[in-house]
Amino acid sequence: MNPRHRLAALAGGLVLAVFPGGAAHAQDPYAAPRQQMLADIVQITRDTRFETGRAQLSQRVTAAMAKVPRHRFVPPELERHAYANRPLPIGMGQTISQPFIVALMTDLLEIKPGDRVLEVGTGSGYQAAVLAELAAAVYTIEIVEPLARQATERLKVLGYRNVVTRTGDGYAGWPDQAPFDGIMVTAGAREVPPALLQQLKPGGKLVIPVGPMGAQVLMVYDKGTDGRATRREVLPVRFVPLTGGPR
Ligand code: SAM
Repeated sequence: MNPRHRLAALAGGLVLAVFPGGAAHAQDPYAAPRQQMLADIVQITRDTRFETGRAQLSQRVTAAMAKVPRHRFVPPELERHAYANRPLPIGMGQTISQPFIVALMTDLLEIKPGDRVLEVGTGSGYQAAVLAELAAAVYTIEIVEPLARQATERLKVLGYRNVVTRTGDGYAGWPDQAPFDGIMVTAGAREVPPALLQQLKPGGKLVIPVGPMGAQVLMVYDKGTDGRATRREVLPVRFVPLTGGPR
């Protein structure tokens, strides 16, 4: 079952849990919805464990998700839906991804504190903020200029000083800043852009949705110390398409 459908199936039977960051936000009107979002993610992670190979997320990832104010990354009129476990429109025909998918993709990247990470598809900047809670530096590239501009401003206002943004085609990666310890693509690619595997350090991971619309699969590529990559399928997903690339 697709995680989106699974969410609908789970509604009403969610587990309450306490996550780091909750108590610190006594003044935050979204503290309780954010806690509920985390409880939803925990439940869906358990329910998808046979597909994903993960029964639970790392504590670092749940702590990061507990910290980032998702309501600051959505249009004001959608703020009250910010902690529902679903994607939301962010303008220009694009979306902020479903929180469970953000958590899963982040977990699959297995980021260590000193890592330098590339994200392709900045969108709202939310995923970049989650990555920034875990890595030393995040480089994020967005092809739609108004989205890149808004996300840059938003991340600055929220104090994410370890995120570097850029407008451009992430199909080519970010050669000036390569190599990266981890690379995440948050749009659906027809095939894996060769530059991304080239720009990954030996021992690094690339997390990317691959396949035609309607049949995308979330994939993890592990680059071995010999420079060769092995891949595994994680879960069927639905992302907006990765544009750009060779014409
Ligand atoms: N990570 C985003 C967030 O946290 O809000 C959500 C990403 S949205 C699902 C996919 C984004 O990828 C869109 O903003 C889209 O414009 C961008 N995109 C698509 N093709 C791209 C490319 N070749 N290079 C960079 N960004 C691209």
